[in-house]
Amino acid sequence: MGFSALLTLKSSRKVEIMVDKFDYKQLLQRLMNNLPEKSTKSDWFEVPRAQLSVTRKRSEIENFKEICDLFQREPQQLYLYLTKRLGAAGTIEGNKLVLNNQVSQEQVDALIKKYYEEYVRCPVCGRPDTVLEKKGRLYFLKCLACGAETPVKNPLKG
Ligand SMILES: [Zn+2]
Repeated sequence: MGFSALLTLKSSRKVEIMVDKFDYKQLLQRLMNNLPEKSTKSDWFEVPRAQLSVTRKRSEIENFKEICDLFQREPQQLYLYLTKRLGAAGTIEGNKLVLNNQVSQEQVDALIKKYYEEYVRCPVCGRPDTVLEKKGRLYFLKCLACGAETPVKNPLKG
């Protein structure tokens, strides 16, 4: 047994001892906290969360315009997408989207993520650098990174 093999053996023993000291659940939690969330975001792009303020009669997405800018989409498209699915009437006021009912953070965040996956992210390479193009009556998601064109539903029908 060479010197390096001995070292390896020693260090792996050390690790075992450390594991023993931790409560298993605690250790698992530590691991989870350190892991990047591969399934929800990519290395180069993070789907934004809504900055939501909700009162009894209305909800405001304060960073609505920012989200549209980040997605490089017309506010009208995301507006239609959200209001239809949230069953709300709404108006765009400056940078905000004001909805006439109460919505939850989870609802809004899930829809923004879904919109991103349907209308922004290229399904071929996973990048967000895309544009929506209309050809005849059909809409395509065109990827500026890999060139793929993917048919999508009419974004103006919500
Ligand atoms: Zn692509």
